[in-house]
Amino acid sequence: MVLSYYGNTIAKSRQALKRVEQILSKPDVLVVAKLWPPLMEALQSVFTVHDRIHESDPAGFVKIAPRIRAISGGGESKVPASLIGALPALEVISVFGVGYDGYDIPAARARGVPVTNTPDVLTDEVADMGIALMLSVARRIPQADKYVRAGLWPSGPVPLARKVSGARLGIVGLGRIGQAIARRAEGFGMSIAYSTRTERADVAYRYFPTALALAAEVDFLMVITPGGAGTKGLISASVLKALGPQGYLINVARGSVVDQSALIQALDQGLIAGAALDVFEDEPNVPEALRMRDNVVLTPHIASATWQTRKAMADLAFGNLQAHFAGKPLLTPVP
Ligand code: NDP
Repeated sequence: MVLSYYGNTIAKSRQALKRVEQILSKPDVLVVAKLWPPLMEALQSVFTVHDRIHESDPAGFVKIAPRIRAISGGGESKVPASLIGALPALEVISVFGVGYDGYDIPAARARGVPVTNTPDVLTDEVADMGIALMLSVARRIPQADKYVRAGLWPSGPVPLARKVSGARLGIVGLGRIGQAIARRAEGFGMSIAYSTRTERADVAYRYFPTALALAAEVDFLMVITPGGAGTKGLISASVLKALGPQGYLINVARGSVVDQSALIQALDQGLIAGAALDVFEDEPNVPEALRMRDNVVLTPHIASATWQTRKAMADLAFGNLQAHFAGKPLLTPVP
């Protein structure tokens, strides 16, 4: 009886000591992406950071896995259930980005591990990029730039382009960024329509229940939904066909949302007029069939990539981890 009393007391003291050690030591964080250096530096200043050790040193990862209390990753990172399951002490996941389709949210939720992202702070930036891509592909700005640089101007004018002001814009996904794009497009006198799964009561834009129905009614189809299984291949061969030979596709969402093979085929066959793409099926690999085309504008997933916005995103991603380890409410938990 007495022995068991002392045994319990010792076990409890050990637990308390372990907790104190945890609080005093720098929490171990697994970084799962090549993070923006200022965010990495911030993490290293207060945490023990293990940079992609699960990929570079699987044996070393097995040793430190029981100590990992947080994951820090990017919007395109892959965090499957198997990785979450390998981290018994995991308490929180912080995503540097608004999209989190590569993270197994149900698996995290089942473990009671909250996930945070960086909404709002990048909305304006991504909306600016959507509009910039629309103007670029319609007015053929990259092609015109190449033409001048190649010294071809003296040989004659470039081909005429497509007017944007006053044209019909269809937005697939009218969330934070989709609405910011719509507000900008209003300034261009464009007529705006959209498609989402649920019609919004707070906007006056024309609603279409499917991307297919929307595509048939617009000149520019702007895609800005989340990625993941729910939107995979949403912009299909039939949607592209409906957009038609005068229609342009702009994708600033995720590569998976557009059926890339169908898009290449549609461009080859002249079923659409052109495309502007910031995101691709297998980044950073972009098929030759897209790279060689003259009616396509390509950017390397840079919609939020400015100093100002990346700083705001880093502050928020870091702030979420700091809040968690200070026992404070998370700043931007994924709902
Ligand atoms: P929100 O969650 O605010 O908006 C998402 C919108 O997509 C909602 O209107 C939603 O409406 C709609 N949607 C979701 N699923 C479908 C579907 N199956 N069919 C049609 N519409 C759908 O997100 P944000 O606007 O903040 O961000 C959107 C996405 O933009 C991110 O998830 C990310 O993938 C991408 N992004 C890309 C960046 C880049 O660098 N290129 C940078 C930042 C974001 P409903 O639920 O009613 O269907």
